[in-house]
Amino acid sequence: MLPTIALVGRPNVGKSTIFNRLLRKKRALTHDMPGITRDRIYDEGHYEGVRYALVDTGGLVMESDNESEEFQGDIFDQAREAIEESHALILVVDGRLGLTPLDEQVASFIRQSNKPILLLVNKVDGSEIEDQCLSEFHCLGFEIMPVSAEHGYNLEALRAKVAQLA
Ligand code: GDP
Ligand code: MG
Repeated sequence: MLPTIALVGRPNVGKSTIFNRLLRKKRALTHDMPGITRDRIYDEGHYEGVRYALVDTGGLVMESDNESEEFQGDIFDQAREAIEESHALILVVDGRLGLTPLDEQVASFIRQSNKPILLLVNKVDGSEIEDQCLSEFHCLGFEIMPVSAEHGYNLEALRAKVAQLA
């Protein structure tokens, strides 16, 4: 089995966009509506000869907002399964929005797995955002990488990092 890496995090932070950019495909469904990816999606990636499996999860949701409790339980279970089967985890957060309580809950949850974790601060679309937002994420204690999945910022560094985690 290939080394497996899962993208986890609350809905709408850009996990599916990152998945597509890393694998250079239009496979995972991205949408403005939080929680649009209901099922885990797997695909193979590679970087300089290192092959790995990447998992896009539907989002860890542990408190109710606009979706039904049942639906949230479902994506939570999916994410937990992804965590169980993965060698390393990439926790994705939204750099424009900043750190949210749900990010902190997700961070605590996955920290217990004792697996390598990269904190990927997405939506860093310009240097002014990078300066503002990165410091508040350091309290989570993970290695941090800023990217913009949409604008392509730091994606080559991310590809190398993912291969390193594999
Ligand atoms: P997911 O729910 O975590 O899988 O998030 P999606 O990949 O579906 O993305 C949610 C929304 O964020 C979509 O409207 C994306 O176009 C947008 N998005 C993703 N990456 C970026 C980024 O780097 N910058 C900005 N500004 N928006 C992004
Ligand atoms: Mg998604």
